[in-house]
Amino acid sequence: MQRTAIYAITFTARCESGLHIGGSQDELAIGGSDSPVIKNPATRQPYIPGSSLKGKMRGELEKQLGRFGGRDNDRPCGCAKDECPICRIFGAHMNTRSNLGPSRIIVRDGRPLTGVRIENKTENVINRQTGAAQHPRSNERVVEGTEFKMQIVLQVFDLDGHFSYTDGNGGSHQGDEALQAVVADGLRLVQMTGLGGGTSRGSGAVSFHDFKLDGNPWKHWSA
Ligand SMILES: [Zn+2]
Repeated sequence: MQRTAIYAITFTARCESGLHIGGSQDELAIGGSDSPVIKNPATRQPYIPGSSLKGKMRGELEKQLGRFGGRDNDRPCGCAKDECPICRIFGAHMNTRSNLGPSRIIVRDGRPLTGVRIENKTENVINRQTGAAQHPRSNERVVEGTEFKMQIVLQVFDLDGHFSYTDGNGGSHQGDEALQAVVADGLRLVQMTGLGGGTSRGSGAVSFHDFKLDGNPWKHWSA
């Protein structure tokens, strides 16, 4: 196995609503939010963990392609089949006999392009039996309009040459281009469904812009 190409896909993520990606309990402070957003401990600035974006891309692609693992189809795909886009791009979950090689993408943490304002969104917890509002709970959110600089490194191996993929618009791709098309579809699905916590309650809408592949326009994203 030999690597034949390595690309940097760079883009901007813009919050189209408040964004809540939860931080650790260590950050809980007296008088602080019940649920803080994750922050860089050195700068105290919120960021988008690469693992959050990667995990959401994987989960949405699994749903879209109907590829899951586990007896109850409730686990990440670990089939390691040659034609599986999930296992090829993200790695075969818990499968030590996979011949597909390492995860093809490295998703970097997204750093804010400017200073970030944080808001506290208070939500009532509703008792489902009585319908009564219980204690209110405050969630920190990065405010709408905040932009983050994102980067996904994509590596291609010689064994990807025969991999083919039909994208969400029906276009068919081979090899290197097929891998890129899977990444683009994953990002489109995140754009449709949101990122972080509370997406069903109006948080986490994001849009992606300004795509470049090694500094040049990226043909898999025309916007
Ligand atoms: Zn699979």
